[in-house]
Amino acid sequence: MKSAAERFAGHRQALAAKVHAAGVKHGKTLEAIATVPRHAFMDAGLHAQAYEDSALPIGHQQTISKPSVVARMIEILHKPKHQLGKVLEIGTGCGYQAAVLSLLAQEVYSIERIRPLHDMAREKLRPFRIKNLRLIYGDGILGLPQAAPFDAIILAAAGLGIPDALLDQLAIGGRLVAPVAKNEKEQQLVMVERMSSHRYQRTVLDEVFFVPLQSGVV
Ligand code: SAH
Repeated sequence: MKSAAERFAGHRQALAAKVHAAGVKHGKTLEAIATVPRHAFMDAGLHAQAYEDSALPIGHQQTISKPSVVARMIEILHKPKHQLGKVLEIGTGCGYQAAVLSLLAQEVYSIERIRPLHDMAREKLRPFRIKNLRLIYGDGILGLPQAAPFDAIILAAAGLGIPDALLDQLAIGGRLVAPVAKNEKEQQLVMVERMSSHRYQRTVLDEVFFVPLQSGVV
């Protein structure tokens, strides 16, 4: 009988192909999608759907993000010919995107505000023994001043705007990518590049759909 790892190897490649077909071109990001076993971050009952390009429930009214959107956002964080240095993720969820980021960045910090999800991500990530990833239980709207500045910041939940603390904690030359709500139904992916201490350049990209960014911890 094939082990689960073998059984899913072809699925991972197929998922990377779907993400490529959805428009993601960045080679290293596609490689990372082809490497991380997405099923390992989900309940056994959803394993059969783990390699579809869709968002799926992870409990606590949250979702594991859609792989092509995860990859698109990570692609956007990369400046041409740059490797990612220190990255901050807001919204660990089950830890899938954090695992993908850990393959591309020097250091990853990931914050989650729902304690059981933070604990679950820790559990799911343990077997991978990822050395350059730190999980933090807290309110990501406040960022992580003790580890700032960050070369890249990625939000996995949509707010009405981009929290000021996160803009402050972005390194000069760094990029932030976030879903931002226009109204109750529509959200846009926004990329912000910090040009100098006071100048930020904002670019509006695709329409997306994410769970809401909420304040405080539970
Ligand atoms: N990164 C995940 C996506 C999880 S969904 C993945 O790999 O698929 C988004 C997550 O953001 C949820 O778990 C939600 O609880 C969390 N979240 C929302 N607002 C937050 C905040 N202010 N600080 C930290 N996490 C937050």
